[in-house]
Amino acid sequence: MSSTLPDPTPTPATADRESAAVRRLREELDQERGSRREAQAVLDAVLEATSQDLYQKNQELSRLNAELEARVRERTSEAARAVAAAERADAAKSEFLARMSHEIRTPMNGVLGMLDVLRSGLSDPRQAGYADTAHACAASLLSIIDDILDFSKIEAGKLELETLDFDLHALMRRLILLWNREAERKHLSLELAIAEGVPRAVAGDPTRLMQVLGNLVSNALKFTAQGFVCVRLEREPAAGAELVVRFAVEDSGIGIAREAQRTLFTAFTQAEASTSRRYGGSGLGLAISKQLLGMMGAEIEVSSAPGRGSRFSFALPLTLASRPLAVADAAAGAGTRPERRFDVTVLVVDDNEVNREVAAVILGAWGCRVAFAAEGHAALERLRAVRPALILMDCHMPGLDGFDCTRAIRSQESATQGARLPIVGVSASTSREERVRCAASGMDDFLPKPLSLEAIGALLQRWCAGAPSAPAPARPAPASAPPAALALLDDAHLAEMRAAAGADFAHLAARFAQSSREQLAAMQGALRRQDLPVLRQAAHKLRGSASALGGTALAARCADIEWRARAGEAIAAGALAELETLRESTCRALTGAAAAPGGR
Ligand code: ADP
Repeated sequence: MSSTLPDPTPTPATADRESAAVRRLREELDQERGSRREAQAVLDAVLEATSQDLYQKNQELSRLNAELEARVRERTSEAARAVAAAERADAAKSEFLARMSHEIRTPMNGVLGMLDVLRSGLSDPRQAGYADTAHACAASLLSIIDDILDFSKIEAGKLELETLDFDLHALMRRLILLWNREAERKHLSLELAIAEGVPRAVAGDPTRLMQVLGNLVSNALKFTAQGFVCVRLEREPAAGAELVVRFAVEDSGIGIAREAQRTLFTAFTQAEASTSRRYGGSGLGLAISKQLLGMMGAEIEVSSAPGRGSRFSFALPLTLASRPLAVADAAAGAGTRPERRFDVTVLVVDDNEVNREVAAVILGAWGCRVAFAAEGHAALERLRAVRPALILMDCHMPGLDGFDCTRAIRSQESATQGARLPIVGVSASTSREERVRCAASGMDDFLPKPLSLEAIGALLQRWCAGAPSAPAPARPAPASAPPAALALLDDAHLAEMRAAAGADFAHLAARFAQSSREQLAAMQGALRRQDLPVLRQAAHKLRGSASALGGTALAARCADIEWRARAGEAIAAGALAELETLRESTCRALTGAAAAPGGR
């Protein structure tokens, strides 16, 4: 607004003009004020509306936030409840599995054991055939149950492998024997081809290996209508491992299409939808095999084409056995029919009547006399009247259980300086913990249920076959009776061992030389530290391997040291120096025996 200021001395005409101009200016001013007020009012209204809106939005946000927080809280506690419920369900499942496995195996023990004995005594081939079939059915029922339990156990990460010494060749013969009948029924040839260089005495988990191979052979037989099934073993170059054996199961059957091969090892899957209708099966076998092999350090491979047969194979890392094979293990696979008799008394401690009966019948078949006790206190009472050569001690019994009963027997023995009775823990649970508990309570050996003719035969061979192969350390003769009175080697036992081990005997002798040196060094170290439990364990190990090879004098001297360490008696350093001399002469004699002609 650019206007010049009015002249300070106005005329009447200019005064009129001026007042008109002033009026106009005023009006304009008023108008402008009015517009401003309006604009302000509009602005205020807009501001009011906006802030109202903002306020409402803010309120809404706060409400949503609170709702969200409440929901999160609810979800969190829901999740916590779900986790707790899942944990409870998992614990209940494990408990259920353990219980089921025990409940099912106990009566199956009765069925299988009785059928085992029944068929061994039948001379009519037809009846023997029926008994064999019944046995096979019971065994296959047990194996289906085992499959389901195993799969759940593997899923839950609860399956444990064992490491045991076993005769690989005998195990393979047993595998073929187990499936021979089925092969004959289908007019298929079932072959075993073990390449040269595959050792017999190895260490690993024979039960799980048999499970995998049994599954592969059973599939091969199932899916082959004519031709052959062959189990092939070859030693492979081992990088980093002591021994690697490739196992292959080949068949001339229907084969598997390439697409189906990819899902073959997935649980509950079969190559074709029609398979379960035509051939049966749960589709679990290969999934379990793959997982078991994975745990053992091997990977399963398949090569197959429709109509061209299949080949399933895996390269399994094993180790050589730490002990030579027991004769009974070596003989296993020939279909056990008791040929030799053990003229001894065995005390069977078991709370289950059927189990006692089964044990009695099997022991009877091996020529043993049997005494019974239904729990630990009764066993202690029974031992006042009978002096058994061996005790089969059920681990889990009401009253005094097998572990405590064994402890009581051992403490009585050391109080009275009585001879040590061989005690074998018997249990349906084959876990490592169970075996460790057995050993810790003072048991000498372990026998898994269900009991079999063959396993008890091997046990009797181990513990009751005569002084040298019964490594239970009887309280050794007092120091005045020189251990030198014992022959260095037991010739008869040695001959038996050489026959059983064949060409592997030289290897066993060399292995013994090395392991015995290590065990003696362990004993010396333990003596320096006055660590009696370790000293006792090393002496026990050395005694076991010496006596298994017929090293009678060395075994007896170890037994003496083991006994002293157990009783907490002082052991002179000179005793170990003498032991070393004895060990060296034993090793020399064994190496000499291995080189001499006369082995198989
Ligand atoms: P199942 O209990 O059904 O036999 P597996 O896991 O052992 O379960 O096998 C899965 C599927 O793989 C079988 O149903 C079959 O279709 C196929 N299979 C396995 N082995 C062979 C074989 N040797 N020849 C042909 N097919 C096979």
